[in-house]
Amino acid sequence: RTFKRQMMCRRDIDSFSVPFLSIYESLIPPEEEKLKQNQLLGLLEKLVCKEWPMARLYLYGSCASSFGVSKSDIDVCLAIQDADVDKSKIIMKLADILQSDNLQNVQALTRARVPIVKLMDPVTGISCDICINNLLAVVNTKLLRDYANIDPRLRQLAFIIKHWAKSRGVNETYHGTLSSYAYVLMCVHFLQQQRPAILPCLQGMNPTYSVRVDNVDCAFFDQVEKLGHFGRHNKDTIAHLVWGFFFYWAYCHDYANSVISVRTGSTISKRDKDWTRRIGNDRHLICIEDPFETSHDLGRVVDKRSIKVLREEFERAADIMQYDPNPCIKLFEPY
Ligand code: ATP
Ligand code: MG
Repeated sequence: RTFKRQMMCRRDIDSFSVPFLSIYESLIPPEEEKLKQNQLLGLLEKLVCKEWPMARLYLYGSCASSFGVSKSDIDVCLAIQDADVDKSKIIMKLADILQSDNLQNVQALTRARVPIVKLMDPVTGISCDICINNLLAVVNTKLLRDYANIDPRLRQLAFIIKHWAKSRGVNETYHGTLSSYAYVLMCVHFLQQQRPAILPCLQGMNPTYSVRVDNVDCAFFDQVEKLGHFGRHNKDTIAHLVWGFFFYWAYCHDYANSVISVRTGSTISKRDKDWTRRIGNDRHLICIEDPFETSHDLGRVVDKRSIKVLREEFERAADIMQYDPNPCIKLFEPY
């Protein structure tokens, strides 16, 4: 490992940027998909307002943060301003309403960590998850979207990493691997770490946006168009960054002692967060701090078995990026 840590990147790495960018482009959702999403959102708004005239619907998740690949499900948050709403009751009621309007596969998941209603719209073919009052997710979606608008390499990198994670079966939280949200935070962190930096730390700057949600102060600089092209002094190509990302997670990250933290633009110590031992089901084997719910480790789903799988996958990917004649094919080979 020491040897590898000092290893130089292969000389022909930049020649892979063109094929990586065409993979990225093939994953971008076409304009008509966006129209269909809005069409479905409009229908849902109409149905919801009949029952709850004061309620609002927000789009969140990858379709709103610009990290959604083609044919993604959409994530919708129903915001009801009532102090003591019983989420399960609303979920059941909502499921009834949707069912009677011919939406398909309507399922109320009242016992999940985040209770949701799932549905499929037969007209647009789009699937959708609706949650209640999960406004922190709406705010973290905005943070990610603002980061994406600073440098195009973030969206490119995140698409490639998500595509890799799906192809390799390491994007499944119920199997102990990481969520898409966690991978995007890993990409943001990685680009904050580059020298010169490709992304700033928006939560470390003078806030121009500030809301209090569920007793959490969410404040950050959101006038990103004023940053000019922040990352312009770093000329790394996308192929180089994909190589660097895997190399970082395979051979550079200190799993035993470090927490990655987009909030601080850096890593912080596990000891400072008291994330050094297993507490309940949270094992903290790979630590990714949520930017707003700072007591929340997005790596907590990872267990003794899946950490091994993840790290072997990072090493496999790093080695492919370093040595394989066709990394753009080999990287995404199904497991
Ligand atoms: P995909 O394209 O794979 O659906 P996604 O960006 O929608 O990716 P998900 O993991 O489905 O990612 O999560 C949807 C949204 O829910 C995220 O963008 C984030 O705002 C929020 N979210 C997901 N997981 C968490 C979590 N563990 N803690 C806080 N917010 C989360
Ligand atoms: Mg989603």
